[in-house]
Amino acid sequence: MIMGRLSSYRIVISAGPTWEMIDPVRFLSNRSSGQLGYALARVAHAHGAKVTLISGPTALRPPHGVHVQQVVSAREMYRACMRAARTADIIIMTAAVADYRPTRLRRQKIKKRGTTTRLTLELTRNPDILATLCRRRRRGQYIVGFALESEHLLRNARTKLRHKGCDCIIANAVPAIGTKRHRVTIIEQDGKTHPLPALSKIQLARRLWSYIRTHVMMTP
Ligand code: C5P
Repeated sequence: MIMGRLSSYRIVISAGPTWEMIDPVRFLSNRSSGQLGYALARVAHAHGAKVTLISGPTALRPPHGVHVQQVVSAREMYRACMRAARTADIIIMTAAVADYRPTRLRRQKIKKRGTTTRLTLELTRNPDILATLCRRRRRGQYIVGFALESEHLLRNARTKLRHKGCDCIIANAVPAIGTKRHRVTIIEQDGKTHPLPALSKIQLARRLWSYIRTHVMMTP
């Protein structure tokens, strides 16, 4: 697929999971390898874009030529995204941000106590980065979200698109995690859907850029 250059664009991509620390050695997180976000960053850079990749903890090598900002928690990712968004033309939120964090960070490792078999953790809701970015969006800024769903994929993804306010959302079924080939559907604000064939992460990254580039050019 031939994709035009992206050289005039400043792009921010979030990737990977966030870790919400419970104590110095334990955390809450989501399953996410970060591969698609890194592939999107690599492809955008190869097409001349200025890319900032805001990444949670992953085992991936930083893509050459991409400005990578490593973060750990959702709140760190939130701050990094808000800062980077000030000058971004396109924002893509692939990160699997943890919705909740432990209300209290224990300074010491939690110990097993006697014969007690239960432990209760109180959680606090994390800020929704994507929804906040959409609310504060600069004129002409194009914002893409992802929806990973275990049921009613398209219906849930459409609801998410409306609530968050992004330009389009990429609906992804849960079995896609960690698999080699992905079948996603792009859903637009006006309800139009574009199902894509099963693709590898790098092919998917190319297809998504090709779609996004065309749509960004049409955005006033
Ligand atoms: O609400 P849910 O996590 O299913 O939404 C997924 C989309 O929202 C993804 O694009 C994800 O990166 C983004 N998100 C976010 N901040 C959160 C939760 C999700 O930006 N706290």
